[in-house]
Amino acid sequence: MVENSNSSEWRTVGHEIVIGALTNHIMSGRLRHAYLFSGPPSIGKSTLATDFAKAICCTDNLGIPCGVCRPCRLISASKHPDVVEINPNTSGKSIMRERLSVDDIRSAIYRFTLNPVELNRRVAIINNFETASKLASDAILKTLEEPPGETIFIISTDNAASLAETILSRCVVFRLNPIPFTVVEKALINSWGANDQKARFLARISGGRIGWAIRLLSDDKTLEDRSTKLIELINLLSLSRVGRFAYADKLRKDRQQAVKTLALWEGWWRDVMISSTGANSPEISNVDYKTEIHFIAEQLDTTKIANTLLAIRKTQKDLQKNANARLALEVLMLQIPTVSSLS
Ligand SMILES: [Zn+2]
Repeated sequence: MVENSNSSEWRTVGHEIVIGALTNHIMSGRLRHAYLFSGPPSIGKSTLATDFAKAICCTDNLGIPCGVCRPCRLISASKHPDVVEINPNTSGKSIMRERLSVDDIRSAIYRFTLNPVELNRRVAIINNFETASKLASDAILKTLEEPPGETIFIISTDNAASLAETILSRCVVFRLNPIPFTVVEKALINSWGANDQKARFLARISGGRIGWAIRLLSDDKTLEDRSTKLIELINLLSLSRVGRFAYADKLRKDRQQAVKTLALWEGWWRDVMISSTGANSPEISNVDYKTEIHFIAEQLDTTKIANTLLAIRKTQKDLQKNANARLALEVLMLQIPTVSSLS
């Protein structure tokens, strides 16, 4: 069997071109101060960030994570003294939201001013940067402008468009795409023990978002949630404005959940578009809702479907940019077309 060269210790699934470029940066001594991985949720950005940190710090010095040396193991366990990982915290009483806290970022920045303990540099992994408050974002920008010592920042975000140009311009930006269905399917079988049939189904409905496919595999509730949300989406099409606004009000109470719901909607409407444009098109991803998707595609013209997709994408961006959630969702509700009930 021919193994994919040097890829066996990367836990990241797919993204081979980006991995190749990162290895190249390490091996050619061209490491930069800041990297940004941007792309849709759950496609493996934070796994890639951790893998990259390991590859940088690995004692093998081959530009890949060996997975067994002390730095590789400590980074895997989030316990390396010179590698700090910052994730958003959930907060909020009436409206739940996940945010990168300015305190977490400031305490990490303080640590960067001290000498590294074990390595000759420090690495900071910052996930979901789109959730950073203005204060947190400014603190990072200031640090990127004057990086303390030998520090490398590895930042990931679901939405590069929400980041200030001043931050983007200081990072090497890699835009990541969803992973091909077949790659997700193979990973679910080989690394997560899924049977062939389940792997094929989950890979397809995940739309190439490996992290979500793994959650669907390990947690039946995630699959039920998806069904609930898709049925709500279908019902919404025949609801009046009052019913739609009531739904918007429910969604706005948890901004992160709203963003995830809209990601599901986007995949759904992409399927409606595929179905509408007819033959010779790629297969739809929500295969278990084929009948409903075809029905809706038949009721609407392509322009209306395209406009709905655009409206959903714009709302996703607005929510990530911390726009007024109620307003953004109500505007979206008015842009979603009306289709008479399926039943
Ligand atoms: Zn190693």
